[in-house]
Amino acid sequence: ASGLELLRDPRYNKGLAFCEEERARHYLQGLLPPVVMSQELQIQRILQNVRAYETDLERYVEVMDLQERNERLFYRVLIDHVEELLPIVYTPTVGEACQKYGNIFRRPHGLYISLKDRGHVLDCMRNWPEPNVQVIVVTDGERILGLGDLGLQGMGIPIGKLALYTALGGIRPSATLPVTIDVGTNNQDLLDNPFYIGLRQKRATGKEYDELLHEFMTACKQAYGEKVLVQFEDFANHNAFRLLAKYSTSHLVFNDDIQGTAAVALAGVLAALPLTGGTLADHKFLFVGAGEAGTGIAELIALEVSRQGNTSLDEARKAIYLVDSKGLVTKSRFDSLQEFKKPFAHDLKPNSELVAIIKEIKPTVLIGTTGKGGQFTQAVLEEISSYQEKPVVFALSNPTTQSECTAEQAYKYTKGKCIFASGSPFKPVTHEGKTYTIGQSNNCYIFPGMGLGCVISGAIRVHDDMFLAAAESLAQEIGEDHLEKRQLYPAFSEIRDISAHIGAAVAAKAYDLGLATKLPRPKDLLAYAKSCMYSPVYRPFR
Ligand code: NAP
Ligand code: MN
Repeated sequence: ASGLELLRDPRYNKGLAFCEEERARHYLQGLLPPVVMSQELQIQRILQNVRAYETDLERYVEVMDLQERNERLFYRVLIDHVEELLPIVYTPTVGEACQKYGNIFRRPHGLYISLKDRGHVLDCMRNWPEPNVQVIVVTDGERILGLGDLGLQGMGIPIGKLALYTALGGIRPSATLPVTIDVGTNNQDLLDNPFYIGLRQKRATGKEYDELLHEFMTACKQAYGEKVLVQFEDFANHNAFRLLAKYSTSHLVFNDDIQGTAAVALAGVLAALPLTGGTLADHKFLFVGAGEAGTGIAELIALEVSRQGNTSLDEARKAIYLVDSKGLVTKSRFDSLQEFKKPFAHDLKPNSELVAIIKEIKPTVLIGTTGKGGQFTQAVLEEISSYQEKPVVFALSNPTTQSECTAEQAYKYTKGKCIFASGSPFKPVTHEGKTYTIGQSNNCYIFPGMGLGCVISGAIRVHDDMFLAAAESLAQEIGEDHLEKRQLYPAFSEIRDISAHIGAAVAAKAYDLGLATKLPRPKDLLAYAKSCMYSPVYRPFR
């Protein structure tokens, strides 16, 4: 390649890190200032720039620009400074970036498939320059984080998630493909915004929607084969459950909002067991919020209980109760319930007052996934700790403003009894002289390892048991030192290593279930997983 091509291709560009020999050999002399800079110093410079900005959105633009310019440097910085940069590249900053995507748009990244492309979606995919895609993250932008319908501007989410697949799960950047399907938006502000970059129409639904999605799902396999992983992300729940059910028998798919969330939450509950005593089957669960996250977690807990105790799923579901915006999910509401809530409709009186519901059911585990926040009031927290020595309380709604309660409130109102985790980050809390570290139930603990496990085993389907394996593997990372601080999740800086363990556990399950195609099965899956992980060291061009 000519010198200029090397500089302009983010896969090859090293900027000032090209050494004298490379500069001479590849016609780079004169195209670069004379200084040769080490990658370490380049990292320092990037961090200094990032830290100097006033706002996180500016930091986002700086960091994502680096991805477009010098891929290996981008991943090096992200991997080495994951605690600092995860909130920039992913939640919460990516949410603001999506809201302003039309304004900060610089260079297209990822694949944009809209209603205009009906009939030739495969051609769009063939325009993508990388032939060996292994992981696709796709959204239709209808429920971006807790921010609602952002239409095409949801693209920031697949891009951010896939950056984490690479940084934390070791998937090669060239094997990742972010996709946004544009079927319009019902967000009037965007439709009125002259800088909006998507189709200027209301969302297509029904047959029109389904046909475009089907054409896309078909094209994924035609372009990249049977073993391409398609992760559904941030679809509204009326499509999310439906699409997952429809494609899980024909494609390698999962929905991170439903299944990934479920595995992360289950891992937290499993990690808490040494503190609460007893087994999972000894617990009673109350979910406030019965959507993708709530029922996803509920189903995976039921599956784990049924696997551990050799009981039926229906039996296991009896210890799980849901509350939605209309109150307790009961038999009396059965006919009007969405399908995914029905398995948890119990024979109870209708009730819409949370404290009264807790009094009646006496849950030992309380999990909030409403997206609305504030439901875990002082009265609620006092009630659950009135009969329970160590209540487990998860406030999972994001972002921080939507959390069911703060970590401080949880410890204060339960008088230090609760075992708490949250979806959003909280600083450590000190209550009566004891300091608690707050584990963040963040999906990035599971999906990178899940993807790695699928890729290294050549899995052709995702089975729920693979999520159980992932959850158990994550829970094992929590030891006595964590529990001492009631910390149910490890530090972000450990995720890359954890992903290798999860990848190995997921791959092992895929082999056991006969879903793996990469043969022979490696003897040491952990070592194999580690050896497959992409590492962003600069390549020498000699
Ligand atoms: P969703 O599918 O829209 O579900 C929201 C659920 O909350 C629905 O069942 C809704 O009731 C219910 N609800 C709304 N207001 C309520 C209220 N005041 N009282 C009781 N229930 C109420 O959304 P989702 O995908 O599950 O996401 C929900 C939240 O979880 C979001 O904030 C998201 O950021 C968070 N989340 C966190 C994690 C994590 O921590 N790892 C992962 C995923 C999602 P109806 O069914 O009656 O409408
Ligand atoms: Mn999501």
